[in-house]
Amino acid sequence: MSTPGSAAQIPLAPNGPGQVPLLELRALRAGYGAANVLHGIDLSVDPDEVVVVLGANGAGKTTLLRAIASLIPHIGDICVDGQVVARSRPDDMLRRGVGLVPQGRGTLSELSVRDNLRVGAVSRASGREVAADIERWYEVFPQLGKRRGQTAGTLSGGEQQMLAIARAMMARPRLLMCDEISMGLAPLIVTELFGVLRQLNKESGTALLLVEQNAELALDIASRVYLLEVGSIAASGDAATFRSNDAIRRAYLGYLLRGTDHGGDFSRSFVLRDYIRIHLCARGAGAGHRLS
Ligand code: ATP
Repeated sequence: MSTPGSAAQIPLAPNGPGQVPLLELRALRAGYGAANVLHGIDLSVDPDEVVVVLGANGAGKTTLLRAIASLIPHIGDICVDGQVVARSRPDDMLRRGVGLVPQGRGTLSELSVRDNLRVGAVSRASGREVAADIERWYEVFPQLGKRRGQTAGTLSGGEQQMLAIARAMMARPRLLMCDEISMGLAPLIVTELFGVLRQLNKESGTALLLVEQNAELALDIASRVYLLEVGSIAASGDAATFRSNDAIRRAYLGYLLRGTDHGGDFSRSFVLRDYIRIHLCARGAGAGHRLS
């Protein structure tokens, strides 16, 4: 058993050839007071990977990210780079390279755009590099550059979400977790934000763990997907399978896909789970893409 605040080295099953996941959760449980919300989550994110967690309202997506970010206590293992993180604080997780764009953005409304970005970089020493990164984010999001002296509270919802992403990235995390960045935003803005995330992943290799209700967009960017139902992983696999297989889409994602005649409900999805398990195994997608 690790002592509080320490990290124990443990052997991990390699995910790819010689690869240790950047993040791995084993039997993670978390909740609020006596109310348990997550009932034993197993999940991993490789370096450079984009993973999405889909789920309906109240499934536990925000709770999952809050537990990983050490904002609430947990039982079970959270491992970063193969090390169990024992009872860490949120700033420990940031130092280990795990950043969070929280639900509701959490920008500091009384501070200017520039100062919000500086706040995101408090863990970094070099003022020159921080200044250069701020300029870079003004280029990525020109709207922020134009409003750099304005207080965050005067920004539109889309601009605040841009600021929340840029602020989280100012700590230069290796894994960025985003909690429903599409929420309440116009489709054009959401497409722009997902484009930036995709670029971030491709160009700087930042791994992404996205929780989303917008399944279409999330599946488009992700390589793997986990489906969270009432605090448990109901299914997981490669995103291409979820995207392309109609039965899977109808069974699992119908209620999350806009404009889809899913022709089924939740109870039907449980019946179809066995079909999906067989289907994915037949495609040889077993190891590393398990259905549970
Ligand atoms: P949404 O998409 O609506 O944000 P979610 O999948 O993110 O949903 P959570 O916000 O993690 O779900 O909530 C999971 C469960 O935990 C819900 O039943 C919710 O009522 C409960 N819950 C969330 N926050 C708290 C809290 N601070 N105290 C007590 N219960 C909470």
